[in-house]
Amino acid sequence: MLDLQTNTSNNDNTLQKVRALYGYSQSEISENLKDYDIPLKQNSMRTKQLWNWIFLKGIKEFSDIRNMPKDLLNELSNDYTLKRNSVSTEQRSADGTIKWLLGLSNNGLSTPNEIETVFIPEEKRGTLCVSSQIGCTLNCSFCHTGTQKLIRNLTTEEIVSQLLIAKDRLNDWHGSEPDKLRKITNIVMMGMGEPLYNFEAVKKALLIMTDCDGLALSKRRVTLSTSGIVPFMERVGTEIGVSLAVSLHSAKDDVRDILVPINKKYPLKELIKACENYPKLKNSSKITFEYVMLKDINDSIEDAKDLAKLLRNIPSKINLIPFNPWPGNNYQCSDMEQIKKFSELLNNDGFSCPIRKPRGQDIMAACGQLKSETVRLRKRN
Ligand code: SAH
Ligand code: SF4
Repeated sequence: MLDLQTNTSNNDNTLQKVRALYGYSQSEISENLKDYDIPLKQNSMRTKQLWNWIFLKGIKEFSDIRNMPKDLLNELSNDYTLKRNSVSTEQRSADGTIKWLLGLSNNGLSTPNEIETVFIPEEKRGTLCVSSQIGCTLNCSFCHTGTQKLIRNLTTEEIVSQLLIAKDRLNDWHGSEPDKLRKITNIVMMGMGEPLYNFEAVKKALLIMTDCDGLALSKRRVTLSTSGIVPFMERVGTEIGVSLAVSLHSAKDDVRDILVPINKKYPLKELIKACENYPKLKNSSKITFEYVMLKDINDSIEDAKDLAKLLRNIPSKINLIPFNPWPGNNYQCSDMEQIKKFSELLNNDGFSCPIRKPRGQDIMAACGQLKSETVRLRKRN
């Protein structure tokens, strides 16, 4: 770990007292503006202006807006905020990965309301890994987040806020010139939580992030990862239109029942059918299947053959994820030699099958290592 800053926030925790305007779609903002004394024919212009200032320039105060009447800005700032959630800590990995621990409103409860957001810079892209829930209900046996019980779903504004905070921190706003290692080009909903158990808030947040007039992330570069919540999968394609990743981890029901217990409710037969019917596959896109490599559990050559057979009718990319260890877990990562053999077999069978390079392990920011820091600390004491 290179550095650790504590309480770096210039924000406060009053965020939830008024609604953040960045949690509304353009059409909702237009509706909201009807509450103010604005001539109807100016409504769409004012909506566009607000949208541009919020999502292109990244302003945090209404008073920074220079082309709207002062009175209107005063009224808006009484009813809404543009403040972000607070950043409790920022940690930087030796490999350039940055993890932010964000403090959210806890509505007066004593439970820790914290989430983690991770930025992973690579040569040609910068990926932001975004959380959808505080904790998770699903208890996958190899995942650290799964050991933290669900506290609550995130709101749309809390999901969007993760991207805004990362852009603030990386100086990645329109007009500023971040070096290419500080630019966010991709979003993965692969942080804490199961995004399809928070469908409506996630949907709205992803539509805001991909709105062409604002943050304008390409839908091809936004990926939603699910453990396989079958009833919502089609809706990801039709209503959100982003890329889909499925956390598969085994081609056998008996093994998957243990690794990803939701498999008992939505077994492989149903999951694979939902993948085959995923609407976006008609547009020559692929589904990414994530497969964590666990020594002697799911990493044999037989397992690779079963996987190839299972996915034969689905345009797929298979991401092999070396298991990221965390305290108190007994799984071991497969040997690299075995992972390479596994990947080779699938490559030879015509699948694209890259091995994911673990990132940010030294700051517990890698896949499946996220968990609210205070929960971690409390367990240790
Ligand atoms: N809940 C969603 C998204 C968050 S998990 C899902 O399960 O898909 C993001 C990815 O990290 C999933 O593919 C998950 O299986 C994987 N993962 C979880 N724990 C891991 C660990 N310890 N090592 C490697 N990958 C892990
Ligand atoms: Fe939840 Fe995903 Fe972790 Fe499973 S892998 S416990 S669904 S966050």
